[in-house]
Amino acid sequence: MAVPKRKTSKARRDKRRSSTWKLEMPGMVKCPKCGEYKLAHRVCKACGTYDGKEIIKVEA
Ligand SMILES: [Zn+2]
Repeated sequence: MAVPKRKTSKARRDKRRSSTWKLEMPGMVKCPKCGEYKLAHRVCKACGTYDGKEIIKVEA
């Protein structure tokens, strides 16, 4: 039976249990057009573009 080679340190264990990385996960990227933060693979809601094309009209 497999036996752990090293005891997991408190720091390592607690880091694993903490969900800090999950909070940063939702891919936030800067829009290449307006520089606003937007969700990755989504149309930018600030300027309405995706992949260099205007998808939705945004009133100025
Ligand atoms: Zn934008």
